[in-house]
Amino acid sequence: MPDEPVPLFTVQIDGVWHQFPKGTRVIEACAQAGIFVPRYCYHKKLSSPGNCRMCLVEMGMPRLGPDRKPELGADGKPMINWMPRPQISCAQEVSEGMGVRTNSPLVKECQRGVMEFLLINHPLDCPICDQAGECELQEFSVEYGAADSRFLENKVKKPKAVQLGPRVTLDDERCILCSRCIRFCQEIVHDDVLGFVDRGSHTVLTAHPGKRLENNYSLNTVDICPVGALTSTDFRFKMRVWFLKETKSICTSCATGCNTIIGTREDVVYRQTPRENDHVNSCWMCDHGRLNLDYITSERRLLEPRVLLGDKLDSSDWNAAIERAALQLRHFPGWETAMIASARLTNEELWLTAQLARALGVDLIDIVPRSGPGDDILLSEDRNPNTNGARLLGITSEPGARLGEIAQAVKSGRVKALLALHENPIETGITAEELSNLPAFIVIDILENAVTEKATAVLPGFAFVEKRGSMINGKGRLQRLNRAIRGPGNARDDWEILRDLLQALGGSNGLYSIDDVFRQMSDAVPEFSGLTLSKIGDLGVQVLRARGALSPLAEAKETAVPPS
Ligand code: SF4
Ligand code: SF4
Repeated sequence: MPDEPVPLFTVQIDGVWHQFPKGTRVIEACAQAGIFVPRYCYHKKLSSPGNCRMCLVEMGMPRLGPDRKPELGADGKPMINWMPRPQISCAQEVSEGMGVRTNSPLVKECQRGVMEFLLINHPLDCPICDQAGECELQEFSVEYGAADSRFLENKVKKPKAVQLGPRVTLDDERCILCSRCIRFCQEIVHDDVLGFVDRGSHTVLTAHPGKRLENNYSLNTVDICPVGALTSTDFRFKMRVWFLKETKSICTSCATGCNTIIGTREDVVYRQTPRENDHVNSCWMCDHGRLNLDYITSERRLLEPRVLLGDKLDSSDWNAAIERAALQLRHFPGWETAMIASARLTNEELWLTAQLARALGVDLIDIVPRSGPGDDILLSEDRNPNTNGARLLGITSEPGARLGEIAQAVKSGRVKALLALHENPIETGITAEELSNLPAFIVIDILENAVTEKATAVLPGFAFVEKRGSMINGKGRLQRLNRAIRGPGNARDDWEILRDLLQALGGSNGLYSIDDVFRQMSDAVPEFSGLTLSKIGDLGVQVLRARGALSPLAEAKETAVPPS
């Protein structure tokens, strides 16, 4: 049965009539009408306790005539009886004929009053507060507060630099008791860990006895804290936020692909914060993904290509390294070559990997599955960000199913050339000794590891914050990564390395940019048809059926009986 249509209510806001669906909260109706109502405790993804009083507005209900029907004014719209007292707009839903005033003298007086109360005990130390530049108390003070303070007494002192958990530090003096952090933990994470104790001006936020704020989503409390009370222990005092360049991207630490903003300055990543996408991660991301950045600046980063000359792995320029690697690959027929690819690569890189396999006649190719405990919030058991891309682009139909065969073929000596892309073959069951004995072992990776020294060519690639491209998350959504910083040293974008290898093997392929690669891919892959990297947009596009299943088209391809 089709869903019942939601009734629309006619509501007057600041003298203009609008229509909103039943159930719309007044504060949201105002936002839809283009009017911002200041708020602290309200957050659209959480319940509305109405405790900060910052969103007070005047409200009125339709004036009823003797027949109990709304009386109509000269404009044919209901006349309004205004309530004598202001009302909070976050907890009230719209109703037929309702009136709302957001900028009347009474509302402005209320806003000034609330701001004055909030600032009574708040320390005036904005210059040394980590939230400066993105603090709603600062912003609303300017917009809605009074210029002078009438407060003459001493401010209440409260605990400072309290470690609420391993990743979150609390300055209780700055807390305005909005309870967003408490409700986030209760309602989103189902971890009842935070609460208020004591009364009046002495009320403080604290973790319940014997508990710590250590759930895997704890840093979201820092994002939603409207002031500088909750800070990220990792980020605090490292960089003034107004110096940060913001790049929209996605997290690549699991198959969920949470949408993010990467904050950088001068090619250094300072923080990663969630970006709202209701198709993927709502407004949140997990701490595991958010903080998984250290390897980008690791001392083990591969910074220049190296090739085996004699018995020594020596630095090389890119032209010589590509030529050498192509020569090694060309030396062996396809059945003596294997490729271990990665579901951490972008679609564009996987597409070029598949072309490379085709050019070399390689059939023995797979990706390395990577899993960990998931939860029913965001974190996926699949810790690879692009397993669906690897499936769709034909790198694997069952991730990891052929790794044993590859290891066996290396062991038996049948495989003489191995290309490892962003994966360590040791983790797939091949021993270091077997790798040393390979006549050709080409590594494309980010970090030096135990087997890099055994390679005959090492080609340093980029980390996810250094590249542009696309991935398909576990629910079949095609999403875009954007470059936030430049790669270090002489490392190169992986798609360029693969393009150059292909060129060295088979001549020019007309690929001059990552957009060219996507275009070539979208011409051949029906799921990408009509798309470009730009058209994917900031919120992505659903290309596969949800739950990780392939689209009917790709499914048909997978299950098709091969011609005998
Ligand atoms: S710490 Fe921040 S989010 Fe939590 S109650 Fe205080 S002001 Fe609100
Ligand atoms: S849930 Fe997955 S994609 Fe989202 S932040 Fe965590 S690791 Fe990253």
